Amino acid sequence: MKSIFKNLSLLLIICLSFDITNHARAQEGDQILDGIGETALIARYTFKGNIRDWSRNNFHLNFQGSSIKYEEDEKFGEVLALSGVTNDYFTIPSDAIADMESMSISTWIYPRSKQSGQTLLEFGKNPKNKLAVNPLGVKDEGIFHASLQSEEKQTEVKASGLPINKWSHITIVINIPAKSYAIYINNKLAGESKDLSIELGQIFDQDDNEKNVLNIGKSFDPILPNLNALLHDFRFYRIALSENQVNSIFQNSTKGASQEGTRIAKKTDELPTFPSSHPQLYNEYLIEVPDIEVETSIGNLPRLPNMIEGKYQGQLNGPKVKVIWPADKDNQAVLQASTYTITGKVPGTSFAPKAKIIVKESKNITPPVKKLASFALDQVTLQTDKNGSDTKFIENRDKFVTTLAETDPDSFLYMFRNAFGQTQPTNAKPLGVWDSQETKLRGHATGHYLTAIAQAYAGSGYDKELQAVFFKKMDYMVNTLYDLAQLSGNKHPDHPTFESDPTAIPYGPGKSGFDSDLSEEGIRTDYWNWGKGYISAYPPDQFIMLEQGASYGGQQHQVWAPYYTLHKILAGLIDIYEATGNKKALDIAIGMSDWVYARLSQLPNETLVNMWSTYIAGEYGGMNESMARLYRLTANENYMTTAKLFDNVRMFFGDEQHSHGLAKNVDTFRSLHANQHIPQIVGSIEMYRASSEPEYFQIADNFWYKAVNEYMYSIGGVAGARNPANAECFIAEPSTLFENGFSSGGQNETCATYNMLKLTNELFLFDQRAELMDYYERGLYNHILASVAKDNPGNTYHVPLRPASIKHFGNPRMTGFTCCNGTAIESSTKLQNAIYFKSIDNKELYVNLFVASTLDWAEQNFSIQQSTSFPKEDQTLLTVKGNGKLDIKIRVPSWATKGFKVSINGKLQKLETKPGTYLTISRKWKTGDTIKLEMPFQFHLDPVMDQQNIASLFYGPILLAAQEPEARTDWRKLTLDVSDISHTIKSNGNPLEFIIDGVLFKPFYESYERHSVYLDFNLK
Ligand SMILES: [Zn+2]
Repeated sequence: MKSIFKNLSLLLIICLSFDITNHARAQEGDQILDGIGETALIARYTFKGNIRDWSRNNFHLNFQGSSIKYEEDEKFGEVLALSGVTNDYFTIPSDAIADMESMSISTWIYPRSKQSGQTLLEFGKNPKNKLAVNPLGVKDEGIFHASLQSEEKQTEVKASGLPINKWSHITIVINIPAKSYAIYINNKLAGESKDLSIELGQIFDQDDNEKNVLNIGKSFDPILPNLNALLHDFRFYRIALSENQVNSIFQNSTKGASQEGTRIAKKTDELPTFPSSHPQLYNEYLIEVPDIEVETSIGNLPRLPNMIEGKYQGQLNGPKVKVIWPADKDNQAVLQASTYTITGKVPGTSFAPKAKIIVKESKNITPPVKKLASFALDQVTLQTDKNGSDTKFIENRDKFVTTLAETDPDSFLYMFRNAFGQTQPTNAKPLGVWDSQETKLRGHATGHYLTAIAQAYAGSGYDKELQAVFFKKMDYMVNTLYDLAQLSGNKHPDHPTFESDPTAIPYGPGKSGFDSDLSEEGIRTDYWNWGKGYISAYPPDQFIMLEQGASYGGQQHQVWAPYYTLHKILAGLIDIYEATGNKKALDIAIGMSDWVYARLSQLPNETLVNMWSTYIAGEYGGMNESMARLYRLTANENYMTTAKLFDNVRMFFGDEQHSHGLAKNVDTFRSLHANQHIPQIVGSIEMYRASSEPEYFQIADNFWYKAVNEYMYSIGGVAGARNPANAECFIAEPSTLFENGFSSGGQNETCATYNMLKLTNELFLFDQRAELMDYYERGLYNHILASVAKDNPGNTYHVPLRPASIKHFGNPRMTGFTCCNGTAIESSTKLQNAIYFKSIDNKELYVNLFVASTLDWAEQNFSIQQSTSFPKEDQTLLTVKGNGKLDIKIRVPSWATKGFKVSINGKLQKLETKPGTYLTISRKWKTGDTIKLEMPFQFHLDPVMDQQNIASLFYGPILLAAQEPEARTDWRKLTLDVSDISHTIKSNGNPLEFIIDGVLFKPFYESYERHSVYLDFNLK
């Protein structure tokens, strides 16, 4: 192993001594190469003198023999040579198969022996449950043979065998929903089975990845010969590649893959299409959609209503009509006082409602001031439902809190100690996945962990022993990190020189440039040179390289979002400080923030603009949020200045002159990476809170309105583009989810929804619009609650919404975190946080969510007990303890269209209760007073904006998913009664479970097997 790394660092030095041109970057590092989003790529081995994974995931191969051989090849340069002898084979780390429904593998292969039985690869849990690829046949010489077998079934695919002593490109595509198993040879479909009925879940151990074996070059069967061949560019994807994608991989690899134009492929995997002129769902019964009038002020694009009241045939009382308005890319249309008209469209119809836009002289817009505050997590406690059973909230909280209590802080400190060259405590084990040795995001889970244990501590007042466990963990984490941070940039007894200035950090010892080498052999640990206050789980190089234009990728001249990771760490430290008053936690955050200020404040604006516009590399989480928070806590102006240095100028303001951007309601986030940008918007509202500068409020408010109305799926998620071909991106144009969304790699990255909820919560503290909490409730029940495994804290990354999908849960033991696994430990330790809010003047109490809980408002001598089995029932009872005047503001959800009854002490009140508003009960309360709220649920459909027949079924706030017996590619068709859809829906006797046309519907948050969130509905 050693020799490989030596070669590699030599290569690296050569590489760094030249300017890294665009050409080099496109060839070596761009993860969206070939138009396939980088989350789809599990691993890629180019075999250029090493067996390292080229992707960001660092699934480096393990070699089982004594020496790896490479050969110089005419066509591809250096290639891997496998000899066919016993131990000459490789294994892929078994963590690589997480979160995978379908699978594709491609490679160039040059067989050097005709012998049948040679194994290119075998993946599986044991010899009876495996995927096998034998390009020269198993027994019959000359036949390409691939199979997938479980104990009960086997699918075989055959193609003509590969020629000997010649390069062939092969791609294996296993498409579970399409029941297809295909072999492509040199870009041609060479063999296919279309009745694949085995799921990958059957060949892999789902509970313990370590039991799975991923061999390259060898079979489980000791009789079969190992592969005797050359290999080049082996890739492993977690999606079923489409023909277009297979083609682009092949074409790009034959011509060097350096042309910019080939990098972003068109959307490839087509969904079922429907005639665009056919009115669907309620639109079939529309007879009129009125024109509207909207006012705006100069410079600001108008906020157009998402839904308009339409007229339907006869007695039909249909829903509001979704109108798709043209979406400008700048604010040219509103630069002076004027009136103009735009025309919208109603999908599938010829209705073309007009909006008259009146542009007026700008009044000074004064955004709302912060009126509300959250309660501390220890003031709200989740309770069992009326039957004494755990609610879904308690179940999920306990899955996380119990497992968190068992975690070893030394695992979360491992890479910090490693970066600082410290010895590890006995038995300390590193985390895996994105915190493994060479992963450039290492330390991110530690940040989430700090927040999670702070929240678990604050929220576990119901169990003092448990609470003490979290206190101890926090203390240990902070003390260790504090001691490490103190080492940075300080004199070291063994070294004559040190560097305390963050802007004067030298190259690592023996290095001739900055690099992101984090290998045991290559990592620099000269912390005395890192500038005062520095803390991270890697040396400072990635931060410096980003300033110098480094792009995102797995190579050593590339980086992976250093400020993203830092944001998690700073947020975690500040959370601990706020939960416990731990001064050392604040001091670490201050020290590192001073370091950041020192570096960023000396950079030209243009550099900053470019940094924050760089795909993923420039992803900074909510650094602006943490800096604004730190400013609020310390009053040190430098932190507010630093927060502003993180302004995403292009998205926020359009350009450096602040011409337009989100601040002026221009949609500047189409096609962008969703979770790179949502936390920046959370930062914007935090900056408004700290600075009162109106632009920052407008940015957040405008973004929220657009994201929720024009980009949202029914579960509350906002990302999952097919165009651009990247499951983590916003769609290319607003209100085109069907046309451009529903990525085959999954949609709705869970951490993006976590951040949307955070943004919503913050906005509501300023602006008490009920639609905000309607969204919060939707995302909380239908994504966050739905993202957790049945019996453990395993949780989702993408939540796929295509027909008959299945959720994939990762990280059940908290041993290896992705971004979503990281936010999950935050989400589920603060599930109680938005049930109630208070006004800052303590005169109002907001009841936002109907969750069994108690609120202990000690400062006001009030407590509220909320008893309910909601959503298994459609009512709740609030019991007041305390005496005195208080306005209780109660959310009347927008879905409560069948009435909302309020009874006080058993007496029905005459109150105006309009869905989608808050109602106020002003009263002098006394202990024992009760408020009963009844809000009959009803069924409603939530269609995809540009394809109305593809819709989700809701019962009240609860998304119901159709339980599916098997994988499928088309949306299940169902017909409902147009006059009242509930006529077609039968209860099966269990709460929230229904039958339509023989199909069982259950809450999405209770769906653990195959299910469809969207169906193809027809009304009759
Ligand atoms: Zn994520």
